[in-house]
Amino acid sequence: MNLLLATAPTVVFNPTLHYRYTDVGEVLGYLQRERPDWRFRFLDGLVVPVESAILREIVQGVDGLVLFSDVATAPATRRLATLANQLVADLPILVYGKGPLRIPAYFQRPPFTACHVDGDQEHAILSYFDALNGDGHPEGVVQVGGPPAYPGRRLGSALWGWADLEALPLESYRNLAILKKIPFELSIYPSKGCHRGCHYCDAPRHEGDVDRRRLPDALVAWTTEAVRRYRFDCVQLHSTDLAADPEWLKEFARAFVKAGSPFPWTCCVHGNTLTESHMDLMAASGCQRIGLGVESLIFQSNRGFKVSRRRLSQLASYARMRGLRLKGYIMAGLPGQTEYDLLDTYLFCLDQGIEPRVSTYTPFQELEGLDVSVLDQMDLERWDRKSFLVESQAMPVSTVIRMLVRPPDVEDWARERLAELTRRTG
Ligand code: SF4
Repeated sequence: MNLLLATAPTVVFNPTLHYRYTDVGEVLGYLQRERPDWRFRFLDGLVVPVESAILREIVQGVDGLVLFSDVATAPATRRLATLANQLVADLPILVYGKGPLRIPAYFQRPPFTACHVDGDQEHAILSYFDALNGDGHPEGVVQVGGPPAYPGRRLGSALWGWADLEALPLESYRNLAILKKIPFELSIYPSKGCHRGCHYCDAPRHEGDVDRRRLPDALVAWTTEAVRRYRFDCVQLHSTDLAADPEWLKEFARAFVKAGSPFPWTCCVHGNTLTESHMDLMAASGCQRIGLGVESLIFQSNRGFKVSRRRLSQLASYARMRGLRLKGYIMAGLPGQTEYDLLDTYLFCLDQGIEPRVSTYTPFQELEGLDVSVLDQMDLERWDRKSFLVESQAMPVSTVIRMLVRPPDVEDWARERLAELTRRTG
């Protein structure tokens, strides 16, 4: 079996590379380990935005095409699949990623032949192609025009793949990092799953709602070798909430220190889970920066959409004492949020020494259940968490876009804008 994995070329506002390492690299690593006699290749439309290059590879003879898509790349993914189907009429084309999980109706039609809808993506992909080879039935996959899907399966962490870094265009990712002025960072899933179910988030659907974690010793050993061999600047332990399992965190810290603290790392946590003792463990084991979802504070109030102002201030103080950096993920355009709230949240983070990062509230839940004829008429490309800009009196787009782009004077501008708004309303 000769499979080509690809993402469709598309214009992007600000690409996030984490998913290339985790949702493509780790999937490839799993497939290669499970089927060592199959051939796999990955062409990333993000860094080789040339459709003809991908199509040429297809026409030269592959047994199947596996497309990774989110919602924003859905139209480009469908376009690539259509062209591929015109070249090779009976080509199996499976699509997976957060796009098919959010808007399955969009993908459950030709030219796609199969769509991942349930359970772990790597298992779904493997079971689909195994079934095409006459071995069993596909699990967690809807076959277009086929019988109802069998349920998917969640894999124990011992079965997760390690990213196949040779298959990823690392030099192009390194250049993208230089362009974005960020470190060249390897991402890995140390854990998957979140039970919280925030209405706008697709992590529980994608990763499941039960927390599953890699064994710390194996995680440290594999990552140490990957950093050494490919010269990454740091590692993102890409978890919904790394602090959700304190025992695991202790074990990880022990394994990390035993290995000689081999690489700097960053992580994400839930602001209401993180404690001082977590931070002690993190600081002692190579953590450089902790990201937490702030979403938004409420102007002139202690309350926030996710964490309170007091809590945020307390966490900032704990982090300062331990030399840890905090990054605060802010959402612009949340229902009920005002421009005051957004500016104030941004400035409060800065004043507390928290690095603010703004993305746009993107109401994916509103896409659910929409008919495909409606989805076809929508501008899905803006559903990318970065550029979903909706003009309103309470939240002008000009403010949001300035915070997304972060020009050098953004802090002064935000202070002046908040002062001006406050003066206007007395
Ligand atoms: S806590 Fe974070 S990962 Fe979990 S559902 Fe909410 S936003 Fe998603």
